[in-house]
Parts: sequence; C-alpha cells; structure tokens
Amino acid sequence: MNLAPSLPLYFMSVLELPAWAINEIEKKCRGFLWKGDEDAAGSCSLVAWEKLCLSIEQGGLGIRNLCLMGIALRTRWIWLRRAEPERPWMRVAPLADRKSLHCFAAGSKVLLGNGASTSFWCDSWLPDGGSVQYRFPILFSFVKLSDITVAAALCDNSWIADIRGGLSVQAMGEYLALWDVIAGISLDPGSTDSMIWKAAPNGDFSVQSAYSILSAGRTSCPLGKIIWKSRAPVRCKFFMFLAVRNACLTADNLQRRGWKLAPICHLCSKDGESCQHIFQACTFSQQVWVKVQARLSLSCSPPSSDFAGWWLAARQTVAKIDRKTFDAGVILVTWLIWKERNARVFEGTASSVTQLCATMCEEWETWKSAGLVTSLNVAAVPALERSQTL
Ligand SMILES: [Zn+2]
Repeated sequence: MNLAPSLPLYFMSVLELPAWAINEIEKKCRGFLWKGDEDAAGSCSLVAWEKLCLSIEQGGLGIRNLCLMGIALRTRWIWLRRAEPERPWMRVAPLADRKSLHCFAAGSKVLLGNGASTSFWCDSWLPDGGSVQYRFPILFSFVKLSDITVAAALCDNSWIADIRGGLSVQAMGEYLALWDVIAGISLDPGSTDSMIWKAAPNGDFSVQSAYSILSAGRTSCPLGKIIWKSRAPVRCKFFMFLAVRNACLTADNLQRRGWKLAPICHLCSKDGESCQHIFQACTFSQQVWVKVQARLSLSCSPPSSDFAGWWLAARQTVAKIDRKTFDAGVILVTWLIWKERNARVFEGTASSVTQLCATMCEEWETWKSAGLVTSLNVAAVPALERSQTL
C-alpha cells in the first residue's frame, strides 16, 4: 500500500503537488485497498482515508499522508541550506514554500554564538524557543522583512528600523514584550551560531522526524499496536482493525449507506445489529466468550460495553510472553463470530455455540501448525507481570 504513494515522492521533494494531483493518487490507492481496482467510489471505503494515514500507534494503517510527506521532504532543503552552507547548489534560489518554512521553524532551534548567521525575524533563536515571526505575529505584521542578523539587530537596536507605520495597541504590547526578551540576550563573539533539529534525539534533521512534527497531536490508540503486533494472520488483523472501528458492514452501517433492510441481529434475533452488539453485547456472542474463557481458564470476565478497555485489561492476565498469542485468540473469536453472522445472512446456515467453539479449536490448530501461535499457559502468569502496564 505504501508503494503507490511513494512514486511521486521524488517530485514532491522539490515541488509542491497541486491538491487535485494528490487527490487522484489517493483515489487510486483507495480503490486498490477497498476494491482491488484503480477506481472505486467513495462508498466502498469503510474507513476514511485520513484515518488510514495515521500511524499504527494512532489507530491507522501507517499509510503516508502525501501532502505532509511532501512538506517534510521539502523542509530538508531548508535545513541543508542552513546546516551545510558549503553545498554546491547554495547559489541556486531557494524554492521553499510557506508550509515547509513553518515546519522548519517548528522543528529547528538556533544555539546563539555571535549571532552573525541567524536571521533576527525568522529563525528560532529566542531563549524559550520559537522565532520573533511566530512568537510576536502582530508586531511582525508591521515589519518590512529584511535579512538582518541577530548580531546586527542587537547592535544599537537596529531591528526597530524594520518596523513600519504606527503600531496598534496589540502590536505595541508585543513590541514591549520583545524588548524584555532581548534584554536578556548576550552574544558570544568567540563562537559561531549552530542549529539543532529539536524533533530528533541526535539534533540532526531527518524527514521522518519532520513528518512526526506534522502529524503530531493525534490521539493514540493502544489497540492499533496490539492488533498489528498480534500473531494472527494479516487478513484477520485487518478485519479486527475494522471491527474495533465499528466499520464492518453490519445492518446499522448498511442503513447509513442507504440500504433498506431489517436491522435485527442474526445471531440472537433480538436486538439491532451493530459491531458493538455483535462482538460484545449479543447473547450468542456472550455465550461464545464464556465458553472460550472457561476452556482457557481465563480469570477475566467476558467483553463488556467497553471492548477496548476489556481487551487491554484481559491481556494483563496472561504472561507477557504469551500476550501476542492471546491477542491472536481474541481476534480469532471475533473473526469467527463475524463469519458465523455472515453464514447466517448469506448462506442460511447456523451453527450452535458448541459447534462454533469446535470450529475455533480447528482454526486455532491450523494457526498453530502454521507456526503463528503457540499454546496459552495462563496459569503461569507471574503476579508481578499482572501489575505491569502494557
Ligand atoms: Zn445479537
């Protein structure tokens, strides 16, 4: 899935692709993922593309967001221009766009020496981090941008000469605040300025760390990592990825897509059908979970209304070394409940709880023969591990 978005990266490292071009590329990727075709309607997508572009830890598939990746790549040129000024292409006019300049400002920090190579207005040299441009934006709107360095600006407060027009009240407030900041600055004539990249532990720029800055701030999803690191087959992991997102094509989701059908659950024939009901609240599924739990002598209770919370707590009852196998077991039970639902809907056949558990045992043995999983030994969980976090 990452191959197609990788193809335009060479161009995007230099040029900003227009939105329509990025949309076309992502449309073909969506078609490949959901339909196995290069063209698929939006209704084929079970999960929004933006959510798939989140990292595994954030609950996505780790597909690169093309727009953000392009910005991260172009930020590299700005970094090289500053960090390695001896490069032969330095005389070529910079192609930096506004977005990559923002990224560079957010990720870089100047360690002031003599201040002779640091831009007073645009570089991130302020003691608390950030640049004058971003920390004092109202004042900056009155500035006629020049390439004055920190050393030149602080000499006789020459930076004031770049300010044009009468300042507004807010700009005057920022002007006075900037004076306070500058009052605490002392330059070291004996050393040169240096630059570090804050987002990387070694202080050196990497495209990956720039991409991390751009995609930061999303909520984390602990189940994402658990699902994809489990020992289940990939197709079952992908199913589970959809199930925890309530994205399977259950009756409620089909109704939202305009299908006219009875929303009744085919497993218990009582309540409405949704992912949450089928995998947690349904009386049929509850019986399955109880039977599996008894068979494995698990000390945890069956899934409650909070499936994610239940899973995170339940895996703590298993020895750390067996948790990926336990996770595969949770995925297997959920997957076979879904297959039983599909058999009832599309084939008109129904298995009892006992029959379904027998099928699970067979499938588990197949996974074991394939070397995916091993036997679970829940009785051997050390007390210390039970109290540890994930
Ligand atoms: Zn039900």
